[in-house]
Amino acid sequence: MEKKTPVPANFIRSIIEHDLTEQQIERTLTTRFPPEPNGHLHIGHAKSICLNFGTAIDFGGKCNLRFDDTNPDKESEEFQNAIKDDVKWLGFDWGEQTFHASDYFPQLFEYAVILIENGKAYVDSTNATEMRELRGTLTRPGTDSPYRERTIAENIDLFRRMAAGEFADGVHVLRAKIDMASPNINMRDPVLYRIKNSHHHRTGNEWKIYPLYDYTHCVSDALEGVTHSLCTLEFEDHRPLYEWVLAQLPVPCVPRQIEFARLELNYTITSKRKLTELIDKGYVTDWSDPRLPTLKGLRRRGFTPASIREFCDRVGVTKKQTLIDVGVLENCAREDLDASAPRAMAVVRPLRVVIENYSDDATDELPAPNHPKDDSFGTRHIQFSREIFIERDDFLEDPPKKFFRLSPGREVRLRYAYLVTCTRVEHDASTGEISTVYCRYDPESRGGNAPDGRKVKGTIHWVSAKFGIRAEIRLYDRLFSVPNPGAEDDYLAHINPDSMEVVSEAVIEPSLANAKTENRYQFERLGYFCADAQNHSPNSPVFNRVVTLRDTWAKKQSRG
Ligand code: ATP
Ligand code: MG
Repeated sequence: MEKKTPVPANFIRSIIEHDLTEQQIERTLTTRFPPEPNGHLHIGHAKSICLNFGTAIDFGGKCNLRFDDTNPDKESEEFQNAIKDDVKWLGFDWGEQTFHASDYFPQLFEYAVILIENGKAYVDSTNATEMRELRGTLTRPGTDSPYRERTIAENIDLFRRMAAGEFADGVHVLRAKIDMASPNINMRDPVLYRIKNSHHHRTGNEWKIYPLYDYTHCVSDALEGVTHSLCTLEFEDHRPLYEWVLAQLPVPCVPRQIEFARLELNYTITSKRKLTELIDKGYVTDWSDPRLPTLKGLRRRGFTPASIREFCDRVGVTKKQTLIDVGVLENCAREDLDASAPRAMAVVRPLRVVIENYSDDATDELPAPNHPKDDSFGTRHIQFSREIFIERDDFLEDPPKKFFRLSPGREVRLRYAYLVTCTRVEHDASTGEISTVYCRYDPESRGGNAPDGRKVKGTIHWVSAKFGIRAEIRLYDRLFSVPNPGAEDDYLAHINPDSMEVVSEAVIEPSLANAKTENRYQFERLGYFCADAQNHSPNSPVFNRVVTLRDTWAKKQSRG
């Protein structure tokens, strides 16, 4: 029977448990994931998705997918569809209905009229500079706008004319009438609506005014019956406003806002603005560049949805802002792929080996398990031939004592095949580089064991030169060379120049000709690899390295 792993406890779950058991809330637990369709999702969003959907699942509740689409200039249907795609890929289901803040534009407008009628909102006509000046600072209270005491009738009239498109952008705004002297700047008569003569990807040209986030979000939550509205810490100071708005209106329910710390990963950035800049300036190709922490990028690189969900579970939910080591995410991928990825052999930097005593027209089909720990993966047969490729790194002409791989006079095991001993080396006449290594094999060692039981320490991987297939392999490293690029004055100055290496002369075993886009493998001794979603084809294979087998980064760093 499958055992369900207990979900880690966190402070949000405790609050919810309390709210539900103390009968403070009688409705089904309802959360929401509210992306703005102005970019693609990244690993930080994955945390919010896993938290919102995961909590709903654990409490038998539901989680709405709601597009927070109140800023038409930057938003698009294309982003919206891509976001849906990513949420599905991560493994979550939001049910039949997709919600949009723009669905509530009529209701938000009606509610705004109620606020005005109750003397809780007014039309302000100061310009942006004046408004900023009057808002005050953390140490200086704000000052009332000269328009603050407009009559209700005048406010209603102006607001309706704003909506009817009578004014240019920026001429008037609708503001909540709260307290210009409040120590919380968010409560100093925040703007609720602004004029924007823009085309909206869903409502077209119907609206000339658009509601702001702080007004829209709480009302949308309430209209959807959200019980717990989980958001990131920067909204803590907005909570009084969230509660104020709902207290003024005849909303169907009052959700509870709870804040948690954003997920920040080291050696990368998750700001949408900066991600857009990296793409626009050509540092990476697009949103699905495998070096980016976007879900599209991680997916193309080869991260599995399960590894990302596991990562989000592991980092947990707290109120304390920390920078998480990207190694934690990579370990989640290693663990998942160790169990789920079939094994194969590939040589990234090939060195030709000729087996002198193996006939040119002989071949052998050697059985190799597809997974060392899981028989259900079955066995394949790999072709052996007189000429094979091994990794350049696996041969040293003048090796140190502890080198157990191939070198003149030494014997190694070719994985699943034979024991071979190096007899001589040939160099390229012009470059002096080793061009061919000659070996003799022990015909009695088929499968890799010496008949006389002699000890052979080293085992190396190989691919037949006759049957192997040429492939392009892309090796990735951290995108930035400093742990917290977002905190640097000029984050672009810290891009790691070696974040991607493309090797075009790699050789892979023929069984990989069947690899389909997004199929993942462990290439023995090298790491986990994924057939590239955009460029891979059976005739021209392209693989991305997801992660190495072990975390080599820490070591590399200390070597400097
Ligand atoms: P913007 O600065 O454009 O608002 P955003 O990253 O907040 O960017 P949204 O589309 O508004 O993007 O985010 C959707 C949801 O994901 C929000 O509830 C937000 O709090 C959450 N979220 C965004 N980034 C992170 C992060 N790094 N960690 C956890 N949650 C995040
Ligand atoms: Mg946001």
